[in-house]
Amino acid sequence: MTHARFRPFALLAALALAVSACSDGSGSGSEAPDGSGGGGGDGGYPDAAITIVVPFAAGGPTDTVTRLLQEPMGAELGQQIVVQNVEGAGGTVAAGEVAGAEPDGYTVLMHHIGMSTAPALYPDLPYDPLVDFKTIGLVTEVPMTLIARQDFEPTTVEELVDYVTENADSVTYAHAGPGAASHLCGLLFQSALGVTLTEVPYDGTGPALTALEGGQVDFMCDQTTNTTGAIEGGLVKAYAVTTPEPVESLPDLPTTAEAGLPEVEVSVWHGLYVPAETPDEVVQALSDALKVALADQNVIDELGNLGAAPVAEDQATPEALTEKLESQTELWRPIIEDAGVEVS
Ligand code: ASP
Repeated sequence: MTHARFRPFALLAALALAVSACSDGSGSGSEAPDGSGGGGGDGGYPDAAITIVVPFAAGGPTDTVTRLLQEPMGAELGQQIVVQNVEGAGGTVAAGEVAGAEPDGYTVLMHHIGMSTAPALYPDLPYDPLVDFKTIGLVTEVPMTLIARQDFEPTTVEELVDYVTENADSVTYAHAGPGAASHLCGLLFQSALGVTLTEVPYDGTGPALTALEGGQVDFMCDQTTNTTGAIEGGLVKAYAVTTPEPVESLPDLPTTAEAGLPEVEVSVWHGLYVPAETPDEVVQALSDALKVALADQNVIDELGNLGAAPVAEDQATPEALTEKLESQTELWRPIIEDAGVEVS
């Protein structure tokens, strides 16, 4: 198991800076159908099923976003899309696998902000996100929520801050591994309070949320794409959303800024990648299919119900994701290094 160590106070100012920049807006083949929506069926790409590898456990936010794209992207490409969960080490196991996969467009990676933090967190990372992949496009940017087990004592953010500060030795927080969004958000929260909590890492925040609902851990910070149902169903206690603006689908929750924690501001961008040697025509076909999927009314509605939205069409492009990955990698490296966060 990996463990992250960090100096919480050193993170505060730097992370606050970073997260405001984060939210800058900026196979096995079945026969292809005859084609009304896609490139299959003419011997060109794709003429077999495509696998999208998800770097976290099934049922979590990255998995949910991927499965929303599965049907409309598959229909556009004229092939089945298979989702495969490859968990471990904050998403780096899956990224390493896809980096080394055949560059033929049949193995695609869905990843999030963790793609930009891994190089600084993992000294022995066996791939370079900026070199070993071609980008397909950005998918969505998702707010996070501060949540706790239903019977956790504090009921407001103010009470949460007091309680966690007074009981830092005994409070546990769940996350999806070093470099995962839930880990980064947890670091930000701890930095803001000047405390160090006991981390409980999972293979994704799908299982982490189940543990929270079961009362096995106290606290978590995770994307609305995972937490909305549990909040609405009263299975967890929710305190705030981590975006500057309120989230429409969770109207009762204040923003962290409104609740006196302006430093805890973060949203999580997702993107699609293929191995670096993948032909440009294949990248283009995947990017075109992504654009179509993001314009699908069901995808828009489902994401909306979960507090998120598809990116604008001009962001679902290789150029936009490359720019995001480059700028975020540049942003996070000094923050992580200065804060002394290490994965061992
Ligand atoms: N939400 C998780 C994270 O902390 C990842 C996941 O399970 O999708 O990054």
